[in-house]
Amino acid sequence: MSSDYIFKYLTLGDFSVGKTTLTLRFTGETIPKNSMSTIGIDFKTKIFTLSTGKTVKLLLYDTAGQERFRKIASNYYNGTDCVFLVFDITNYETFKILSFWMDELSERLNQNQTDLEIILIGNKSDLAESRKVTREDAEEVAEKMKMKYFEISAMKGDGLEELKNYCLQRIENVIAQREKNMEEETYDVDRVSKLVETPKKLPNQEKKNATCC
Ligand code: GDP
Ligand code: MG
Repeated sequence: MSSDYIFKYLTLGDFSVGKTTLTLRFTGETIPKNSMSTIGIDFKTKIFTLSTGKTVKLLLYDTAGQERFRKIASNYYNGTDCVFLVFDITNYETFKILSFWMDELSERLNQNQTDLEIILIGNKSDLAESRKVTREDAEEVAEKMKMKYFEISAMKGDGLEELKNYCLQRIENVIAQREKNMEEETYDVDRVSKLVETPKKLPNQEKKNATCC
């Protein structure tokens, strides 16, 4: 099925934080009951309808087997609109390691695009009794890094609707901004072509003036 727009999202974060579960959940796939560490998915797609009636195809790339200190090929990042930076609220290590991903991203961002949004996701909220990272700590980091923070359970689905709604709203905003930029560019091109046309007429006018006087 074709769509009006395509947006590329990708998951980043330590192994076992729930990136694959989130990818599957977000795109409405069935979640396997047993461990998924052996499943190497590249990306999943899902078409969403925006409030404007337009459709957007979301390509959700999932990092599999590339986690932790292994550099990810830079073409993986090309054209990315949004990153889900995921940690496990029951595993402090996965939270501590976020700075590694931020360094990795800022390195990539210099080379690629600058309008990419990073969303911080604290996963496994259903295991709150084993929580090792407080919501306050996560919110503080998110604020410092100018990221939105969501706490979810990719397994149970808690918080997923909120995350999805935020993403769709953001996509609508990005589309509106891009269309506005395009209109401005067209306007600029019109102005430039008018400016270019003006001197073209001058020699004729000069000629006319020359013969008349
Ligand atoms: P990845 O390595 O980051 O892709 O993590 P996976 O999606 O493969 O998940 C790792 C393990 O955590 C699996 O056993 C999942 O079933 C489990 N898991 C993922 N998300 C959640 C969650 O929200 N709650 C709970 N309790 N377990 C989860
Ligand atoms: Mg995985």
